[in-house]
Amino acid sequence: MMFRRLYLTQFIAKRFIQRRPEVMKERQTPQNLLWKTIENTKISLPQDWKNVRNEILNSFRSITPANIDAITVNVCTTNKKYDLALSYLEFLKTENIQLNLATLGNYFKLLHAKGLEEQFSPKDEEKILLLYEKVRKEYPILDQSTLNSIIQALSLTSQWKQCLGLLDEIKITSSPTAYSYCVIIGAAFLHKEDDLAWKLLNEVIDNDKTVYSIVYSSYFKRIGKKSDKGSQIEKMFTFMQDKCLKIESNQIEEFVESLKSLKTIVRSSVVTQRGVCKFCNSKLLQFDLTQSEFDEIKQKIIDNVIIGKDVYARTTAEELSKFKSFVSNMPSFDVVIDGLNVAYSAGLKQPPQVTSGLVQSVVAHFVSQGKKVLLLGRNHMNKWPRNNWGYIKENATIFLTEDLSQDDPYLLYCALSSGKDTVIVTKDLMRGHKFLLKDVRLKILFDRWLSQRQYQLVFAKEGGNCIFKKPPNYTHLAQRNGHFWHIPCKSESRFITNKTYWLCVQK
Ligand SMILES: [Zn+2]
Repeated sequence: MMFRRLYLTQFIAKRFIQRRPEVMKERQTPQNLLWKTIENTKISLPQDWKNVRNEILNSFRSITPANIDAITVNVCTTNKKYDLALSYLEFLKTENIQLNLATLGNYFKLLHAKGLEEQFSPKDEEKILLLYEKVRKEYPILDQSTLNSIIQALSLTSQWKQCLGLLDEIKITSSPTAYSYCVIIGAAFLHKEDDLAWKLLNEVIDNDKTVYSIVYSSYFKRIGKKSDKGSQIEKMFTFMQDKCLKIESNQIEEFVESLKSLKTIVRSSVVTQRGVCKFCNSKLLQFDLTQSEFDEIKQKIIDNVIIGKDVYARTTAEELSKFKSFVSNMPSFDVVIDGLNVAYSAGLKQPPQVTSGLVQSVVAHFVSQGKKVLLLGRNHMNKWPRNNWGYIKENATIFLTEDLSQDDPYLLYCALSSGKDTVIVTKDLMRGHKFLLKDVRLKILFDRWLSQRQYQLVFAKEGGNCIFKKPPNYTHLAQRNGHFWHIPCKSESRFITNKTYWLCVQK
């Protein structure tokens, strides 16, 4: 029936429009304003900064003598005008303007960025070490933000191991940034301290932090000199596969460049719906969970998410015992439907004829394929129009909870209890539950299981003709396919969620 398709389309369009202005509108931050002024001014000598600085202070209320220096160094650095930033610092020195901690922090970041992009000389090293010594003398106790900045600069020097002490210093009060970890890992690889590098890399992953491309580029730079570089590349790719690592969208370029420096052929590619790489035509693999892996996540989810989080707190003793008795006698189902999620997939304000019709169509879709269907829903569904509700009751097993209960845990419990191959129909990504699993390996397994079992309703026609976004028949995981390795990249777009870009690598 056309109107249902229309409802869903409108719903998607509305969400798209709501989000779009955020992306399109350039944010007028103090940084942007300041950078525009600098860009429009000719600065050739440090003293030219005097007028610019005064002009900026007089023009923008949000920029004050307390923050102007840090912001100026920062914007010049992010725009890769390192010499301009240095000339500004030179100007501050001649004017006897003291650098506050925020400016010093950005000074370290500047030296780091410059050191990475340009030839790093002994003079650069000296500058970093002297600055560090000076800051340490003036500020025996440093805040974590400054410490993170110092780590970046220090990691480039021969004194890089001092970063480990700084890392511990940060850990006293907070958590080091992912980038701090990654620059130290990079330094460790470059200085042939592989055990330390891998240990820290595992720590990054165990803490669910981002792996920056400096890790890979340092690793590839280091192995470039080894005779067995082929197997060394393989080692990193296999690690990426084990840890389910994808390349962040803003890190792809550096990753590709560093791989190319090893005389490796790297191309960006797209994988078709059927799992075929458009560049090399390899068929990508599906990594199914083994029975024991599945049993492990099932047990952990039941222990941590369902029992541990005390989801039953929002339910009555009566409902709990009803559910327990239901699952203890529960046969296995092919499909578990999140009734509420399907019903409201066309929006919250639809009349019961529409909401119940959507669920009826989804049930009919699977029943016509001979599937055994379980529907989890709410008590109020009992009042749904008889034509739809009558069909659902006749053709699916139903478990209804009170209107205030949480659905996810019940859904997960039933799906997991039902078996490894049971399909879940919901748009809910259930990320919250993943985070309750402490172990990163289990999080990865949970993600993999869910991504292979989750159907998301796109639209439904009366009589059960439904279209779903189905799990792909390949896994978004770094993998070797014949002579090629395929490395998944994260998508930059917030709108396209089902498209992953890949790097197709030929060693
Ligand atoms: Zn390929």
